[in-house]
Amino acid sequence: IDFEEAVPDEFNFEEIRKTFDVQPISSRSMDDVRERCLELVNDMRLEDTFAVIDLHAVVKLYEHLKKRMPRVTPHYAVKCCPDRGIISTLAALGAGFDCASQGEVELIKELGIDVDKIILAHAVKRPVDLRCIAEHGVKFTTFDSESELHKMFAARLNECKLVLRIKADDPMAKISFGAKFGAHMDDIPKLLSTAQLLGMDIVGVSFHVGSSSRNPNAYRNAIQQAKDVFQQGYHYGFKMNLLDLGGGYTGLFDQTGNIDESPCDFSIIAKALDDIFPKDQWPKLKIIAEPGRYFAQSPITIASMVYGKRETVKASGDLHYDYYITDGLYGCFNGVIYDGLETPAYILKSTGDGSMPELELRLGLQHESTIWGPTCDSADCVMRDTMMTELNNGDYVLFPDSGAYTLAGSCDFNGIEATKARKFYVWGDRMCPTCTVEQLDSELFLPLKPPCELLQHITPETRASDGVDAGVE
Ligand code: PLP
Repeated sequence: IDFEEAVPDEFNFEEIRKTFDVQPISSRSMDDVRERCLELVNDMRLEDTFAVIDLHAVVKLYEHLKKRMPRVTPHYAVKCCPDRGIISTLAALGAGFDCASQGEVELIKELGIDVDKIILAHAVKRPVDLRCIAEHGVKFTTFDSESELHKMFAARLNECKLVLRIKADDPMAKISFGAKFGAHMDDIPKLLSTAQLLGMDIVGVSFHVGSSSRNPNAYRNAIQQAKDVFQQGYHYGFKMNLLDLGGGYTGLFDQTGNIDESPCDFSIIAKALDDIFPKDQWPKLKIIAEPGRYFAQSPITIASMVYGKRETVKASGDLHYDYYITDGLYGCFNGVIYDGLETPAYILKSTGDGSMPELELRLGLQHESTIWGPTCDSADCVMRDTMMTELNNGDYVLFPDSGAYTLAGSCDFNGIEATKARKFYVWGDRMCPTCTVEQLDSELFLPLKPPCELLQHITPETRASDGVDAGVE
């Protein structure tokens, strides 16, 4: 297998730093990413959703994966977050790419990355994707049906090497793919013989145990099944030597800045590889994986501004607050629908005094609150009936660890250009600690300049003197 494997001796970050204007941030306080958000809001008077992308986190994640599974070359699943900074960083580190469409292949090529680094890992390709394989000379693609073999044959794509995707679901994974993709083991002989008849070249096996897998033994079972397919393939004349472990890995950082492998221990997967495909017996075996979430989730913090507020007195006499923020289910929080996204949050409070950031932890009075997205759709709700301290217009809600399947799926419904959320690249020293929804209970109080002129007159200082209260709403 001729996957280009030039892993650079030394990672050269200089060009990426210039292209993406990556700002170093040092740990002056407990959380550098949050501090950077504060600086951005103050300096640039931002008033819309933005994302802070920590490319150092991407590097750490890559190095961790290579250290823990040295035989595996990651091919980043571009669909998860087709961010140019993340892709360029991974390319510079030596990663390959899992593309699932013509658009993704073209993005990779536009960034100057060699087509040899691409596997078109969609088992059912549209006509336009088949043409893209021919046009760009994509060398590897997956399939799981006879129909796909016939399509490839009819499109004269015999040059493209095939990887047979098998079904191998982890029942504990957050999102499973088995109902949609992957050949059943009973169907393997039929697929192998059809490929043989058509003169197609099957060079390996792929699987996806499901996104956010919680069971490394699901990988072991799948690797075992893959070996079985390798052996069956041998009888049909296919000398397979590509094993594609798919995605499913989680890449969150713990409080000490280390990568938390508790959901899925890499050493168990590495051991399964060594047990089932011992290195000395399989010297030419090329092993790749297609992590998406692993690389995109924790490097990205999404910040969304509160721009509207409504207070209601409930029958019990308690207050309920509705807040309206600049991002919602048609924007980054599409992940709430499609990806089971849970949305822990930090709050950046506006005090309007413009002083330098100083972090202070303050507990406020808790009220039942609902956070709505910006569109007119009443289904556009980010958090419902959550106990949290009172927010005001101009405050920001920060969602750490929110890069996977969020920005990627945004649309511009309601004329709100969620797809144009601004991005700021940083080179963080420390990770934003992964937080839980319960952390909404504690309020992180940051002095914050009002983000725009419109909101300036409702800051606490001016509110009293103007006699204006919720005028802007
Ligand atoms: N590979 C394939 C073929 C996929 O369909 C996906 C996700 O949809 C991925 C890799 C990435 O999965 P994850 O984000 O769970 O790593």
